[in-house]
Amino acid sequence: MSVNAWELDPEFKYKVASTPGGENIMRCFQCSTCTASCPIADIDSNYNPRKTIRMTLLGMKNKVLSSDEIWMCAICQMCTERCPQDVRISDVMGAIRQVAEKEAEKGNIDIKSVRPTFEKAFMHQIEKYGRSYEIGLTMEYYQKVHKGFVSAMMAMQKDYTKLGMRLFKKGKMPVTSVLPEKIKRTDEVKKIFKSIGD
Ligand code: SF4
Ligand code: SF4
Repeated sequence: MSVNAWELDPEFKYKVASTPGGENIMRCFQCSTCTASCPIADIDSNYNPRKTIRMTLLGMKNKVLSSDEIWMCAICQMCTERCPQDVRISDVMGAIRQVAEKEAEKGNIDIKSVRPTFEKAFMHQIEKYGRSYEIGLTMEYYQKVHKGFVSAMMAMQKDYTKLGMRLFKKGKMPVTSVLPEKIKRTDEVKKIFKSIGD
């Protein structure tokens, strides 16, 4: 099904506003303080949080949800501190991402960013061990992104030769980190995940 990226959906802003984090989106009066404060916008002129909010309010659903920009927010909260309208942009971006993931699950849009894959792999490690386990995270992430064990191993080997060895030499990746170390009472962490999922 071809989708016109410029098609307007007047309900889109309500959808975002009713998603946790998106409640204040309609307070935005487009002053651009967020973009002027944003460290990501400073290094990449394609990233403009004010514009993303504007496009959302206009109903440019497919254009916003398919964009790479919604995955670029570093959640540094600079904009949230400075926004005169308390829009809470990083939370709004999170709400837009949640809508995007649901639309992608339905097959309505494609998400090109690897960020949701990374975030899911990270959360799986927390659920399993109660803490981040870098080797498990890397294995899961690479297998999902590179679609298969062999291609994941080849990509990992290439990247690790550059980054992993540097980390290892500086003592940032000790041999002991190869095996996962669970925190106590991981069953309670699992219960938290279950309650969020329910
Ligand atoms: S700083 Fe707040 S009010 Fe100003 S454009 Fe950004 S979100 Fe909108
Ligand atoms: S929270 Fe996101 S949008 Fe806001 S300043 Fe930081 S990177 Fe930019």
